[in-house]
Amino acid sequence: MTFVRTVLGDIDPAALGVTYAHEHLVIDGGRPVDLSPDFLLNDIDRLTTELAAAHAAGLRAAIDMMPADCGRNPMLLVELSRRSGVHLVAATGLHHERFTGPSHWSLRATEDELAGLFAADVEDGIDERDYTGPIVNRTDIRAGVIKIGGSLGGPSERDRPIFRAAAAAHARTGVPVHTHCEAGTGALEQIRLLTDAGVPGAHLSLSHVDKVVDRGYQREVFATGAFVVYDQAFRWGDRENGTLQLIEWAVETGNAGHVMLGMDAARQGYYTAYGGSPGLPFLLREFSDRLEERGIGADIRRRIFVDNPARAFAFAEVGR
Ligand SMILES: [Zn+2]
Repeated sequence: MTFVRTVLGDIDPAALGVTYAHEHLVIDGGRPVDLSPDFLLNDIDRLTTELAAAHAAGLRAAIDMMPADCGRNPMLLVELSRRSGVHLVAATGLHHERFTGPSHWSLRATEDELAGLFAADVEDGIDERDYTGPIVNRTDIRAGVIKIGGSLGGPSERDRPIFRAAAAAHARTGVPVHTHCEAGTGALEQIRLLTDAGVPGAHLSLSHVDKVVDRGYQREVFATGAFVVYDQAFRWGDRENGTLQLIEWAVETGNAGHVMLGMDAARQGYYTAYGGSPGLPFLLREFSDRLEERGIGADIRRRIFVDNPARAFAFAEVGR
């Protein structure tokens, strides 16, 4: 293992601790907020309060999955990490096309240019204006993961060059790769494209896949060696909790070593500090209690919250 790249610097993966693997702690405008004002997350006092509550429940690290030109603000992430004492990892990459829009600059960039941009975010630092315009001033705050958005059923024509650019940036820098699975679908097609382009499953994680409560689908994903992030735990309402079911199945089939958890709570309405619910501590409080009731004890929870993120978000050795 090498290191995990946080917004405050590189750390030993063993120092990461209890980790939420897919979060949106900062969304400072951009197209998501244009689409829905509930996405706006830029009040440093409220966000510090929310993260401090999660810290009190045991949280020590979170991976912020907002990629380039989507409301990312590395300076706010730094301040939030300093004030809360929680390790934060920032992302580069590009989100699902609904969050970049039909006339986005990325559609006119070549695959090589995108790879160069992603690698620069990882090695040099994220632009202080997040690539919202042609003037780029790099901060010294570096991205520790590449997050890319796939489409329903797998990567679309728009997505494919972005996925290959992420793979090229991975080869150059060793940065781990993380994907958005639209409605939980397309995981296998995404993995195939990325592994063909040189990203080993061990450095790849896929989010939202617990939207598809299908044991066979999940086993096929596990068989590739990739990690999943189950991030739907609080969204089942009166229905049977599919996330809980999938964790049970993963444990039964010996795949707990591939599972991570996150909240993906990208809205004010999910944060207690904004008057919403269930609040960021949910996974470490109510949901951990439910896991315990279902026989998923502290040893398994430690793998899911601590050991797996330490592997999944560690940089690969480069120069292979
Ligand atoms: Zn997300």
